[in-house]
Amino acid sequence: MPWGVSVSMDTYDVVVVGSGAGGATLARELCRWGFSVCVVERGLRHDIVGGGAHAAAYTDTVVSTEGVPIHRAIMAGGTTILSAGNMVPCLEGPLRRRGIDISGEVRALQEELSLSPLLPSLCHEATEAVARAGAAAGMPFEPLVKGIDPSRCDGCGLCLTGCATGAKWTALSFLDEAVWLGASVRYGARCTQVLVQNGRATGIEIETEEGIASIGARNVVLCAGGLETPVILQKSGIEAGRHLSVDLLSHVYGIVKGRTFSRELPMTLVCTARLGDEGYILSPSVNARAVSRHLSSRGRTDVGVANVLGLMIKIRDSGEGRVFPDGTVSKRVTDADRNIFEHARAAARRVLIAAGAEPDTLFESSINGAHPLGSAAIGEVVSPTLETRVSGLYVCDASVLPEAPGLPPILTIMALALRLAAHLADRA
Ligand SMILES: Cc1cc2nc3c(=O)[nH]c(=O)nc-3n(C[C@H](O)[C@H](O)[C@H](O)COP(=O)(O)OP(=O)(O)OC[C@H]3O[C@@H](n4cnc5c(N)ncnc54)[C@H](O)[C@@H]3O)c2cc1C
Repeated sequence: MPWGVSVSMDTYDVVVVGSGAGGATLARELCRWGFSVCVVERGLRHDIVGGGAHAAAYTDTVVSTEGVPIHRAIMAGGTTILSAGNMVPCLEGPLRRRGIDISGEVRALQEELSLSPLLPSLCHEATEAVARAGAAAGMPFEPLVKGIDPSRCDGCGLCLTGCATGAKWTALSFLDEAVWLGASVRYGARCTQVLVQNGRATGIEIETEEGIASIGARNVVLCAGGLETPVILQKSGIEAGRHLSVDLLSHVYGIVKGRTFSRELPMTLVCTARLGDEGYILSPSVNARAVSRHLSSRGRTDVGVANVLGLMIKIRDSGEGRVFPDGTVSKRVTDADRNIFEHARAAARRVLIAAGAEPDTLFESSINGAHPLGSAAIGEVVSPTLETRVSGLYVCDASVLPEAPGLPPILTIMALALRLAAHLADRA
């Protein structure tokens, strides 16, 4: 038993708050090291495989006071349930500059999960059209690496609302392994604050349907995501919540009359050519509901969603957002962000026109965010070992990322979780 101390019924070596990308990965790893672990999850366990649960039951959109919608999921498995299945490393350089090398952990995860681009049999006309047009427009696209098992994927394209076939990796599989290895899970339990005595974490307070309770632990790791972890920290007397980024995103669409595109998975390709100098990526993706709404608002009955090509723009936004102790969020689109969008939209329009979209049919979606992060950043709120100034209180989720990646962050968060588990094992 780590720490060599006998434990009472409800005192654990580690309480992990949240079971998303950071929490489930950490819980599984800690169990492998032999720690006693309790995972506290605010949401419920929904049966996604088989299509038994509706995304509305767990999708939670927080709208900033300035009107920017920021998406996340509140349920077991966290926001990995909503992911497009992209699993690429990001921020390795900025983390290295802060003394953190995650290359070994990233490699281990890539091997374990057999991460790879989609098979050509799962990519169709839209992917082909964007790849060809991108090359012609000086915006080269390449296949995006996915955590999707091709043998289980039926190509339905509904990754973003929860994969009903179980082809997409989600944190639920690691949570299940953690339970198999002995972890306890409390569903429907919201951590409200960390209990601290003499500068050391001693457990957490939770709110459940039955009321308020506490769970004792020698170490507490907050993995409640970029919008909730800073709330818990602030309620526990630790300054946090500044420098929130969300990797702002928007779409540009165009009608390609005379062509019909089959349904495809979102984000089969990515163009990162402008990420370094201009701060944005492009990736093919169509939000069918938004496109249908647009077409019917224009009275276009001659074309449908299948005639539309779309590119998602994701930018490295400025970290000027803030999460307040009551959970309200301030996040605006700054002039610098608008400037990046302007360049990105011009590039997206060029690619779509090169793919055959009629220029006068191009339209854009509104701006929102899907990667809340940076609100308890390394070097600001936590040390390179992810510990706060309260001994035994750690953070291991998107909050700790030191800057907006403009890229999908799940793999990097998971790598940080492996690293933290090894650190805790070393200390023990
Ligand atoms: C539509 C969409 C698509 C995306 N696609 C991708 C993609 O393809 N690839 C990628 O890398 N990233 C993607 N992302 C982003 C990615 O899902 C998140 O960045 C990542 O899941 C964040 O991990 P996390 O551990 O910080 O938080 P989460 O995964 O959100 O986990 C937080 C967990 O904490 C729980 N929780 C919250 N508050 C409390 C509390 N007070 N007490 C107890 N539990 C609590 C939540 O229910 C949740 O289970 C996408 C995001 C969205 C919205």
